[in-house]
Amino acid sequence: MSPIQVRTIPLPKSRRTLTFELERKTVKHINLRVRRDGTVHLSIPKRTTVAEAEAFLCDREDWVLAALSRMEKRAEAHPLAEAVGDSLPYLGGKLEVVWQHGLPARVEADMVNRRLTITLFDPTDPEMRAAAIETFEIAETRKLVTALVDRYYPLFASHGVPYPKAIRVKVMKTRHGSCSAAKGYLNFSSRLCEYPVAFIEYVVVHELCHFLEANHSNRFWREVARVLPDWEERERMGKM
Ligand SMILES: [Zn+2]
Repeated sequence: MSPIQVRTIPLPKSRRTLTFELERKTVKHINLRVRRDGTVHLSIPKRTTVAEAEAFLCDREDWVLAALSRMEKRAEAHPLAEAVGDSLPYLGGKLEVVWQHGLPARVEADMVNRRLTITLFDPTDPEMRAAAIETFEIAETRKLVTALVDRYYPLFASHGVPYPKAIRVKVMKTRHGSCSAAKGYLNFSSRLCEYPVAFIEYVVVHELCHFLEANHSNRFWREVARVLPDWEERERMGKM
């Protein structure tokens, strides 16, 4: 499970619904933040339950709503002249990215028209833009690799490989994926969703093969070829 969950709860006094990010961390106390992009973030110690975290938030309803309304006023006071166009590589093609100003921060994907509409408090802020793209890519890559692990896993189950304990997607600078065979973890780069599906399949199969063989030995490549005979062609699609 991802360490950050997005949850929505009804607030007891105002009866408004509140969407917030819940993150378990090695912290001593619950820590509540309302970011300047209008997202509400709650870090909680590992032992705190979700119910306790939600109760904490409900107790601070007035404070959260006041902070959110301050952010909204600030957003209205600085309207943007125009959104800036852009594009994002996606599954070997491209998605048009439309940036717009507003709150709450969100990403809307229209896959029919291959367009992402990203709403931010300040869509000209490079950090906010990068964070929004990163969040989108992590979610997309997670969906893709999870589906592919499920599709290819049966070929490994018959060799006695247990189902991965965790499939983690994160920013990786130099690699597309890695495997901690002893822990049962698969790790994938958040940017995998930029590549063609044939390549993403290769990365998933490659990492699953490390459950059978830790090194890139001849046996390792025989296992890769057993599942994907055309793996060499696929591998070339991912040159960084
Ligand atoms: Zn490898």
